[in-house]
Amino acid sequence: MSNIYGKGAKGRATKLHALITRSKGRCEKCGAGEQAFLQCAHIISRKYSWTRTDLDNAFCLCASCHRFFTDNPVEFGIFTIDKIGDDKFDELIEKRNCIDKFDWEEEADRLKVIAKEEGLI
Ligand SMILES: [Zn+2]
Repeated sequence: MSNIYGKGAKGRATKLHALITRSKGRCEKCGAGEQAFLQCAHIISRKYSWTRTDLDNAFCLCASCHRFFTDNPVEFGIFTIDKIGDDKFDELIEKRNCIDKFDWEEEADRLKVIAKEEGLI
């Protein structure tokens, strides 16, 4: 079975983060519902550990809006600032730049608690 989320605790955390993000149940840009293939769209690239599974670092977007923003990063930036504001964006940038080791086991456990509380798992 292929796993798009990655291996081990990092993969578990990434999968839970996507599950929680998609549970918003509608596209945050166009309002489309679950039938529009909702996806977890990262604000800051998922390659950065410290923001990869931050629930403030992702929107729930339909596949179409996600593709549009991937192809149009300037529009995505404008949308992002409009949605979360400059202060929250600055916080994410600061967190992204952290160079300390990230504890994926702890993060997977944290997200599991949230997913359970929301009845997602
Ligand atoms: Zn959409």
